[in-house]
Amino acid sequence: MKSVSLNGKIFEELLSGDEIQVIVKSLATKINKDYAGLNPIVVAVLDGAFMFAADLVRHFNFEHQFRFVKLSSYKGMESSGEITHLLDLDINISDRNILIVEDIVDTGVTLHHYQRKLSAQAPKNIEICSLLMKPNSLQHKDLAVKYCGQDIADEFVIGYGLDWDYQGRHLPAIYQLRKD
Ligand code: 5GP
Repeated sequence: MKSVSLNGKIFEELLSGDEIQVIVKSLATKINKDYAGLNPIVVAVLDGAFMFAADLVRHFNFEHQFRFVKLSSYKGMESSGEITHLLDLDINISDRNILIVEDIVDTGVTLHHYQRKLSAQAPKNIEICSLLMKPNSLQHKDLAVKYCGQDIADEFVIGYGLDWDYQGRHLPAIYQLRKD
């Protein structure tokens, strides 16, 4: 079992870099089919989705606009429930198709909040693509994640954009906190 140590905690490999790339390609294949001719605005959520979004859009073969937003809800290893907008969308989204690209949906509080905020600007449609999802932690059961790469257990993960205390984002694989 491959593992990494960050700040004295041990994390064990959950998904290898190759496994992640297979998931990313399969998500992109579905999205390519669904968004042909729709010219959506692809909105990637910083910080965690930067690596996933960069790999995902490399497979896109439809016309689109790409923007980053920065939302923050996590404090340490837990969702705080309070959403901070650190970088907002500065583009008119009225009557446009929006595809939100996220690294992981945990409680769903962040995207539930963000989807409501975007809905107030009258887009044609909003869909969510998340690499990972923790279904057992989901508080907003009505949050529809149309494109989900993989469901995982309710454990803290790092790597492939996901950090712990700003460390571990660079890792090409995803690792789960080892229970001691
Ligand atoms: P939610 O609002 O769904 O509870 O949390 C969403 C955000 O929390 C994600 O975008 C991500 O930044 C962060 N997050 C959720 N679970 C994890 C995790 O296991 N590891 C890390 N590093 N961040 C997480």
